Amino acid sequence: MKQIKPIQVLLFTSLICFVWLVILLLLYSRFVNYIPFSHIAVITISSVLFFFIIGRFFLKTFIEERIRSIHRIISYGSKPEVKLNKDIISLTMKDTLKWEKARKEELLELRKEANFRREFLGNLAHELKTPIFSVQGYILTLLEGGLEDDKVNRKFLERAAFSTERMVDIIEDLDQIMKLESHEITLNWQVFDLLKLTREIITFLEEKSKEKSIHIKVEKNEAAIFVKADQAKIGQVLTNLISNAINYSNENTEVDIQFYPLGESIVTEISDQGIGIAERDIPRLFERFYRVEQSRNRNEGGSGLGLSICKHIIEAHDETITVKSEVGKGSAFSFSLRKAHKTNEL
Ligand code: ADP
Repeated sequence: MKQIKPIQVLLFTSLICFVWLVILLLLYSRFVNYIPFSHIAVITISSVLFFFIIGRFFLKTFIEERIRSIHRIISYGSKPEVKLNKDIISLTMKDTLKWEKARKEELLELRKEANFRREFLGNLAHELKTPIFSVQGYILTLLEGGLEDDKVNRKFLERAAFSTERMVDIIEDLDQIMKLESHEITLNWQVFDLLKLTREIITFLEEKSKEKSIHIKVEKNEAAIFVKADQAKIGQVLTNLISNAINYSNENTEVDIQFYPLGESIVTEISDQGIGIAERDIPRLFERFYRVEQSRNRNEGGSGLGLSICKHIIEAHDETITVKSEVGKGSAFSFSLRKAHKTNEL
């Protein structure tokens, strides 16, 4: 019963009617009252023709038109080829199933987006709550008399300024993520020495690492490692990853930075001997605001946006960033960049 067209059904029923009428008339002519054969032919042919025309009219009005309306809905107003000489029932079933699948996917996507928005707003409120309440607290204390007390007024103003800076950092990070996501930021491609940049960032973070007696080890080889990328953005990635390695490590440990050639790329690996990350947290680690539960309290300064920015920057370069980690042993973050030669001009 595959590929049966409405017009075929109509023809087939007309044929059955025709045969049935001929048999009835022949029987009538034989046993009741004689009818000449030519009359039988005229009666049957005209009746079947009438039946066919009426049938076609009903099929057109009740099936073709209605199916056409269904198609108009499921194909967003485009004019489908709905004709009785096509297998429109199967075609409609197929199209409706396709339409249903697409709507289900759309609904799922909308639900995911709604969840994402809800989660995002919740996280943003959560991250801004602490600095806003601190600023509010300091201002109220100052207004209630602290302003006249030389011992606290400056200190409280400095703390309020620090909290404001934190809010600005969060907003700037978010702004950067939005711009990277909407491709508003264009990369400033350059050929530069990745090793030199890494050493500059280590020097910049020296105070932070010394506070925890963390030794940062980097390739001894003096030879430059040339890559083609946006130097400022890669500097930001390195700063984030090395800061995290320091933040999430215990005192007197080591952070190791290594560079590996891999085909046409250079892979930079930053490994630490820190607290590590549980396997269940790894798939969500690069999501904005995502923080592993125990590090929420540990690193008050973090906003959970750093790794999300790193991923966006690396992906804007068409490269990848990955992480390997074991709880209690440490983590290793790696990202790739396009290899270049000093002479490479952009
Ligand atoms: P944060 O500002 O919280 O550091 P990130 O986006 O940089 O935000 O990091 C997200 C989370 O990933 C951190 O809160 C921490 O839980 C985890 N994390 C990142 N780097 C490391 C690391 N080197 N070792 C252990 N956990 C890490």
